[in-house]
Amino acid sequence: MTAYMDHKDLANETVDSQRAGKISDGVHRVLDGIAEAESAAGRDAGSVKLLAATKTRDVGEIMAAIDAGVRMIGENRPQEIQAKAEGLRRLCAQRGFALGRDDAVGSGAAAAAEERADMVHIPFHVIGQLQANKIGKVLPVVDTIESVDSLLSAERLSRRAVARGITVGVLLEVNESGEKTKSGCSPASAVELAGQIGVLDGLELQGLMTIGANVEDEKKVREGFAHLRRTRDQILSSAEPGTSSCKELSMGMTHDMAAAVAEGSTVVRMGTAIFGERAFI
Ligand SMILES: *Cc1c(COP(=O)(O)O)cnc(C)c1O
Repeated sequence: MTAYMDHKDLANETVDSQRAGKISDGVHRVLDGIAEAESAAGRDAGSVKLLAATKTRDVGEIMAAIDAGVRMIGENRPQEIQAKAEGLRRLCAQRGFALGRDDAVGSGAAAAAEERADMVHIPFHVIGQLQANKIGKVLPVVDTIESVDSLLSAERLSRRAVARGITVGVLLEVNESGEKTKSGCSPASAVELAGQIGVLDGLELQGLMTIGANVEDEKKVREGFAHLRRTRDQILSSAEPGTSSCKELSMGMTHDMAAAVAEGSTVVRMGTAIFGERAFI
């Protein structure tokens, strides 16, 4: 499983200046592209946040992106989070950034929490499917799980969050394209599921997430994004308990960012445009 992890030391912290420069150029290009898409869609500058999708990238590459202006990251696999979290947190702290969640316990915890309160927070999200037996590994590190797509998985997360005495952010993932290879709940069940998830203890339903249809036809891709936006609006106007925070629309990747921004995305998840093609999947 995940054979690429045998080929690449994900905890590596050093990048040469050429690679760092390429990543920095990528970040600036992406931020410019988002600003252009916001403007073309008549949306306010800064209304769309950039999440760097960091799967297969090592600590040094991710820090180069943070040094160039990335302020939110997302990982797909718990194994990668485990391999990178310690290095990322330490290097972020050196720069005055508090990455993700830090449930410090024991002596010095209060002082550490106070110190973090003064730092700029860099949210750390899970954007891939999370197996039940991996929940315990990621909860101490991440703020938000974007890939919750069933009541069962939300209930599991809820129990673990309550046991830790924390509140974890969740996005409901919706399979707007209906492609069999994609996870996510059916669009028809999203509103009801959101109401059920919203009331679970230990969770804050922060919005919806989708992966755009894998087709050439931009109209089709946009339809899916537009439907996710209408679903979000329907959830908010339902005024069901626990749904008032369901505001985020995490949609748009390297190849369909502009379409997603045009349809109301609040978070775009970009990997390739920042770091280049992935050598591993
Ligand atoms: C990899 C990934 C992205 C980023 O994809 P790119 O095409 O590299 O921009 C976004 N969302 C999810 C869920 C991903 O797994």
